[in-house]
Amino acid sequence: MKKGNWEYQRRKMVEIQLIGRGIRDKKVISAFLKVPRHEFVPPPHREDAYGDFPLPIGEGQTISQPYMVALMTELLLLKGEEKVLEIGTGSGYQTAILAEIAKSIYTVERIASLLERAKEILEFLGYKNIHFRVGDGTKGWEENAPYDAIIVTAASPEIPPPLFEQLKEGGRMVIPVGNRMGQDLIRVTKKDGKPKKENFGPCIFVPLIGEYGWKNGN
Ligand code: SAM
Repeated sequence: MKKGNWEYQRRKMVEIQLIGRGIRDKKVISAFLKVPRHEFVPPPHREDAYGDFPLPIGEGQTISQPYMVALMTELLLLKGEEKVLEIGTGSGYQTAILAEIAKSIYTVERIASLLERAKEILEFLGYKNIHFRVGDGTKGWEENAPYDAIIVTAASPEIPPPLFEQLKEGGRMVIPVGNRMGQDLIRVTKKDGKPKKENFGPCIFVPLIGEYGWKNGN
């Protein structure tokens, strides 16, 4: 494959890694065809930006595998008018995908340097519908609640209660839940004020660290 031919690599990523594995939502597919993933991957790994794996982004954190970003986005069942809360901005790539599809995105990251870099890239790319915050995302972002959809891109030992509270009736939350070695990808729908859970199989994420996640990074 020709290195540096980003558009070609992006098309191949979508055909093989996403459509080839069952991603069908047209809005998700067109967002992936549009967003330049290589811009979100720091230089030592940029050449591998369209590979079928997560990559380091600094501070011990990762940009998730493209398929995982696509699957989590598809599971949110976005139509275009939603207000979405994202916990774990990381590189900002998932944020850009969400911003292509939904109306407004509220994204929270606990590591200030990562949030700053993500914000710079997203502003450079021209996104105007993203709101940024540094802090403990396990507590959500109450001032702007409720949300139509919530996505948590780090592994949690349980569903953080404040996040469920901040979900609208009928809203969806997608979150990896389990222990530090492995999790299940769970979709929680708020139905009559109660959580309805569906399991979409095993996954591995970096830990969600905070008051309603793990208490420390060890
Ligand atoms: N979706 C991101 C992307 O596309 O690059 C990948 C996110 S990375 C797998 C998980 C992120 O969650 C890390 O940047 C980590 O610092 C962040 N994180 C962990 N605990 C957090 C918390 N309590 N609040 C906000 N962010 C948190």
